[in-house]
Amino acid sequence: MTVRVRFAPSPTGELHVGNVRTALYNWLFARQHGGRFILRIEDTDLERSRREYEERIMEDLRWLGLDWDEGPDVGGEFGPYRQSERLAIYWEYAQRLLEAGWAYRCFCTEEDLERERERARAEDRPYRYSGRCRHLSESEAQKRADAGEPHTLRFRVRSGPIVWEDVVRGPVRWEAEVIGDFVIVKSDGWPVYNFAVVVDDLLMRITHVIRGDGHLPNTPRQLLLYEALGATPPVFAHLSTILGADGTKLSKRHGATALREFREQGYVPEALFNFLVLLGWAPPQGVGEVLSREHVLQLFALEQVSKAPAIFDLQKLKWMNRTYLKAKPLDELVTAVFPYLQRTGRLPAAADAATRAWLGRVVDAVLTHLDHLSQIVEETRIIFEYDLSAALAYPEVRDVLEDPGALDVLARLEQELADVREITTETFRAAVARVREQTGRQGRALFHPIRIALTGRPSGPELDKLVPIYEIGSTLALPQPIPSVRERLRTFLTWAERVRAESPSR
Ligand code: GLU
Repeated sequence: MTVRVRFAPSPTGELHVGNVRTALYNWLFARQHGGRFILRIEDTDLERSRREYEERIMEDLRWLGLDWDEGPDVGGEFGPYRQSERLAIYWEYAQRLLEAGWAYRCFCTEEDLERERERARAEDRPYRYSGRCRHLSESEAQKRADAGEPHTLRFRVRSGPIVWEDVVRGPVRWEAEVIGDFVIVKSDGWPVYNFAVVVDDLLMRITHVIRGDGHLPNTPRQLLLYEALGATPPVFAHLSTILGADGTKLSKRHGATALREFREQGYVPEALFNFLVLLGWAPPQGVGEVLSREHVLQLFALEQVSKAPAIFDLQKLKWMNRTYLKAKPLDELVTAVFPYLQRTGRLPAAADAATRAWLGRVVDAVLTHLDHLSQIVEETRIIFEYDLSAALAYPEVRDVLEDPGALDVLARLEQELADVREITTETFRAAVARVREQTGRQGRALFHPIRIALTGRPSGPELDKLVPIYEIGSTLALPQPIPSVRERLRTFLTWAERVRAESPSR
């Protein structure tokens, strides 16, 4: 028997991490078993469903590398794969259930039902439908329907236990008594989720239903429908809830939860793939947690998935992403950071080879500070901005201004660099060494004023890396020019003189 699994999102919003993990586990299971991974769009909620979301969901899945074998875009033997295009199929099955007596017409109005709910609340018991229309005679129900009286179709729930062996949760048992006769087709003719899903899973020959445990209460209802249709149900695997670091259900309060937000922040697909697979499954001891797609395909086992809630640890995701970023070729990173810097107006619309090579140096200088790529904008302020009036906010900058020895270091460095033909890391170091000999200052006393003068900031990437970045940067055609090392020293010394003159109390 070929394994056939499905991912069945409702296109009512962005794909969030819980759904993505569901998609991922389904995909892994299909690929591991040489099976089929099916994408089915559950768009029966007319008001909230949007084609645009459907497209975004597909885009996100593709970005993560989760390809599907059947779906609304690629077609397949068991389509259509959009529920809104399957209404006739649901009606056919509803008719069958009606004829066999498994379903009945219910003429209760919304007011009738609200009264029932009200009574249940007053008596402090959980609500379930009273079954008022259950006993209407077939001829009467037919007559009222023919007369055009609005009605729903309800499923006639039997009594007795409903049991299944869940791959993740083990044996599960429900008593049918707690489930009232539920609606399968609404008065407007649209099927209700539980019914549409069963018809689809049945006709699409789904062998395993892997989904979030939010659907647990639906499963007994779905099993009753399989029973009524005389069909063997698929195997069920209900994945645990994902919690935030504080132990409450992951939600907007915890920050980003949509895959797209992580994408836009510059998390790479390999990192999210790796991180998400660990939300509920752990590799064997000693293997480590950084796992390639191929490795995960070898190791993952649905039977090992934990029923304990998974914790979404953002720090761990950041670590994972840093790990993958560091392993990427520089050229790929340059391409990836380009749009972030371009959007802020720091780079031209297209970069020539020299600019790309320079950007490689920039990325290399700040990479260890990046959890995700959008942080490049913040982390490269030290390269693209040289703003001495803002620098005054740092006490360390004021210290330099008040230290004649520090200013002397800078003046001498300027002199030493005056005749240097090309300022590189090496020639710069040599000039600094001469200043050390002349002044006797070393270590922090020597380098700190230099850093402050060149960057306007007390900390940042190594000077060895910044010096060529400033030098080469100053020769490029950038929207906002970058001052060279010499220009920085000159600007700083002039500025220092002026600031000191303006505050004679010093
Ligand atoms: N459309 C449902 C959802 O988005 C999934 C249905 C299922 O997996 O059974 O939650």
